[in-house]
Amino acid sequence: MTTVLETLPEAPPEPKSKKNNSSHLKVIPETREMRDRIREAARVFVQGLDRSKPLVRDDSRRYAEQLLRSMGLGEQYLGFALVAVANEFWREQVAAIPFNRRLLLLPHCLKNAEGCPADYDEFGLDCKKCGACSVADFKVKAEELGYKVLVSEGTPIVLKIIVSGHVDAIVGVACLNVLEKAFDKILLAGIPCIATPLLSSNCKSTSVDDDWVFESISLKTEPIEQKTKTYMHLMRASNGMFDEPELARLAPRSRQVVGVAHNADPLAQHEAIAYDFLARGGKRSRPLITLAAYDALTGGKGTRKSEDLDLSDSVKRTALAIEAFHKASLVHDDIEDDDAFRYGQETLHRQHGIGTAINVGDYLIGLGYRLVSRERKVLGAECAADILDRLADSHMKLSEGQGAELLWREASEKALSPLDALKIYALKTAPAFEAALYSGVRLVGPADDRDKMIGDFSRNLGVAFQILNDLKDWSGDEDNKLLAGQDVLAARPTLLLALALEALSPAEKEELLSLIQTSREHGSADDMVAVNTVERVRSLYRKAKVFTKADKLVEKYRARAEAIADAVDPLEFRELLYYLVDTVLERQAAIEEEPKTFMVELGV
Ligand code: SF4
Repeated sequence: MTTVLETLPEAPPEPKSKKNNSSHLKVIPETREMRDRIREAARVFVQGLDRSKPLVRDDSRRYAEQLLRSMGLGEQYLGFALVAVANEFWREQVAAIPFNRRLLLLPHCLKNAEGCPADYDEFGLDCKKCGACSVADFKVKAEELGYKVLVSEGTPIVLKIIVSGHVDAIVGVACLNVLEKAFDKILLAGIPCIATPLLSSNCKSTSVDDDWVFESISLKTEPIEQKTKTYMHLMRASNGMFDEPELARLAPRSRQVVGVAHNADPLAQHEAIAYDFLARGGKRSRPLITLAAYDALTGGKGTRKSEDLDLSDSVKRTALAIEAFHKASLVHDDIEDDDAFRYGQETLHRQHGIGTAINVGDYLIGLGYRLVSRERKVLGAECAADILDRLADSHMKLSEGQGAELLWREASEKALSPLDALKIYALKTAPAFEAALYSGVRLVGPADDRDKMIGDFSRNLGVAFQILNDLKDWSGDEDNKLLAGQDVLAARPTLLLALALEALSPAEKEELLSLIQTSREHGSADDMVAVNTVERVRSLYRKAKVFTKADKLVEKYRARAEAIADAVDPLEFRELLYYLVDTVLERQAAIEEEPKTFMVELGV
């Protein structure tokens, strides 16, 4: 039988552990003299670089390798050199941003572990400035200058602060492990950022070159013309559509009640629940895709200056519609999976009951269609009809994919091939990217010549994204999931399961299916049973090497999406597609096969 993996190039040897494999590249140069030399060399090296585009991981790694080679230094300093190059890339642009528009981000492991009197709150460590470590010194200096200061390592909260529009640059202190994880999220978005690496990564009473941190905090020059393209202005525009009163202006309410008023008229209450959920949390990456595609095909002005952003209300309403569909699908998904939390709050059906939640989802679908159809006079009937057609098509595909998954979960006789799983993925995830991208393109003009490219690109991106999600499920989900292996407990037809069924012996295959079936029938009410089930499935998955195989498939689909992007014009649109690949397929954690390290990775 032909397997999906047979279409891949011959596999390299099994990686032992990416975490361990890369730790030998994250050595901090032992002497201050060597650290200074690398910084200085990076400063000279960066002079010749094109700074119009944000740094991407592959380029910066290549630059760091070149830098080390030119200095006759070994690869053990790669992580440090990478940070040095990124710092010099951004130094001038950070320096040009006013102090009160910057964020100082400090790690809590700098604190004096023995006697630190500080407590933690939702924003991280609330330093009491007792003077026992340098956190207080950095904080006092930065606050005097007007910085916002956070003693935390959570990249999501940092991104939230940036997208909310309160800061335009980051000055950070962190270990090389944390900087590696933050790289994609922060640098790819084109946010000016410089960081001082901690001198160790042991997470306790760490230290840093204090004078470098003070120097970074104090950097200051006159404002300069923005050099590097950034999607930040578009991210803020996407986010801003969901803030009141902008949301009510773009999508006027019928009942005029803001907030969920429990004693209000039920009509107003229902509308308020729907609007509240529409505006809630999330990355709003789908409306961003629509806005960014529109911007890219109209000259890409939005990636240069916020003042040059040119997004009409019709464009914004179309992007808003994309999010309304997405939110509707989340409400319905949460009911189907009986998930308890979404965006850190109880899911809608747990709060208001299943009937109301189904209805709110339906309402949001209607709102999405209406947002576009009411723009037909501005957009032109043909353009509005094309977008509505694509939205309807995506809606149906998504329902097909979800329907197939639900029927599979209920089936008493379960079988699943990797191709079956991939077919479901192509239907479940890709249409949302396709609808968002297509809408942005169609808003500019007829999209027939880009139609196939959009579908192919979205399918590869969506499938890779869904496989990455499967892999993430084994390291927990930062937003909503507490326990690894939730897909197993919910008996979802994942690619990991399909790959395991393909590789295991008949007896193991039968055992795996029986574990899945039992999870389905008994749920995860009994925690010990759930933990044991997950552990047994994990060991079967490891035996079948599904994590490595899935990882290779992510790379295969990523490469296909990139190859499609390579042939796209104009440059601004091509760059957007690369940006989507890099951000949508951002790695959350190294994937492990070797048991001991895998447990560490999962925090077990
Ligand atoms: S200065 Fe702040 S972080 Fe450092 S030990 Fe004192 S309270 Fe803790």
